[in-house]
Amino acid sequence: MDFRFTKEEETFRQEVREWLKQEIPQRWLELGPIFWEETEESWILSRQFQRKLGHKGWLAPAYPKEYGGLELSHTKRLILAEELAYNRAPISVEVEISVNWVGPALMLFGTEEQKSKYVTGVAKGDIIFCLGYSEPNAGSDLASLQTRAVESGDYYIINGQKIWTSYAHYADYCWLAARTDANVPKHKGISMILIDMKTPGITIRPLINILNHHSFNEVFFDDVRVPKANLVGQKNNGWYQLAMALDFERSSVGYAAANQRTIEELVRYAKETKYNGKSLADDPLIRNELASIAVENEIARMMNYRIAWMYSKGMHPSYESSMSMVFTSEITRHVANVGMKTLGHYGELDQDSKWAVMNARFMRMCLCSLSIGLGGGTNEIQRNIIAMRGLGLPRH
Ligand SMILES: Cc1cc2nc3c(=O)[nH]c(=O)nc-3n(C[C@H](O)[C@H](O)[C@H](O)COP(=O)(O)OP(=O)(O)OC[C@H]3O[C@@H](n4cnc5c(N)ncnc54)[C@H](O)[C@@H]3O)c2cc1C
Repeated sequence: MDFRFTKEEETFRQEVREWLKQEIPQRWLELGPIFWEETEESWILSRQFQRKLGHKGWLAPAYPKEYGGLELSHTKRLILAEELAYNRAPISVEVEISVNWVGPALMLFGTEEQKSKYVTGVAKGDIIFCLGYSEPNAGSDLASLQTRAVESGDYYIINGQKIWTSYAHYADYCWLAARTDANVPKHKGISMILIDMKTPGITIRPLINILNHHSFNEVFFDDVRVPKANLVGQKNNGWYQLAMALDFERSSVGYAAANQRTIEELVRYAKETKYNGKSLADDPLIRNELASIAVENEIARMMNYRIAWMYSKGMHPSYESSMSMVFTSEITRHVANVGMKTLGHYGELDQDSKWAVMNARFMRMCLCSLSIGLGGGTNEIQRNIIAMRGLGLPRH
């Protein structure tokens, strides 16, 4: 693996930076939402920005040109992801879901019609997906899912309930995992189906998250009729397709770049803030903590780079994505905690307080970062994957 960027790649990074300087809306930066903190206003701003990015070809830069991408290398895709995250562009999990998880799975398993409609729509920023995986009794043990899809003429009739469905209230379509055969081992009777979220029979109920925002939902399906043409890939082969999409999900890059920016701000704060005539940065305990998050974050970045490199070589990361996810989620929590310790009681103040430091970023990040080692499979499940697929340990 080559750790250096080429001259051309560095020039591309510069081009992205310049573009972002012009295009990230000022109002978005003032609002400063972090993950899972969308409001109606921030959602509109972010969707406008994403469409602009999509129509430039930079939302899904590595996609084939025929599906709205630019066929850029995975290294350039990584550079874009880093710059978007570092510059706090209006890109969040909805883009990850649609562009980096569902889109690639559709490219592998979808029909030509599905690809030209959905993959292109996703690449242009015109279509948002939500993920219909988890159910009240199927989270880590996802293969136990009970939502049924029963054939009836040219349709599937869907009945069941999903939970924690991020952005279902905004999404155009759902990438749904449903049981199409209840009489075979549980992994073998699941199919992936695309559902228009405006179809009659779908009820969306909000769930309020730890940050007191509405980001995820319960979704109920009551006799929802979906054309059979919306089945993706082979019937009852959904578990395999879903597992591929989850690998895409877990290989997300960008957190390390976002952390990098936050660490830089924290270091600046520690240098500028004085107690008893000395700056916080002179305190050996604080220096130690800051150094350790800087080093750990660099390791996370290298893990992200490894994933990009594997894609660039035509490999499909599997346990490597899980490694990256575990490490990145834990370092993100660590950054948030070191921030809280460094700020002392100021860190506990909400954005409304005039004494709040850095827009209360660390307190919000502390709450938000709990979700990072959960969505897409908990860190315990990732460790199981690393043990089995990476270390070759027995399943039981
Ligand atoms: C912010 C956020 C967004 C989400 N968005 C979506 C979404 O858009 N769509 C969607 O479908 N789902 C979504 N989820 C749901 C997420 O995928 C599940 O929460 C996750 O898979 C865990 O399932 P669970 O909550 O049922 O917990 P459980 O599976 O009940 O797990 C409870 C605890 O037991 C541990 N555990 C369970 N099994 C094992 C095992 N075999 N070995 C070791 N430990 C184990 C877990 O690690 C966990 O600590 C989201 C979750 C979060 C937090």
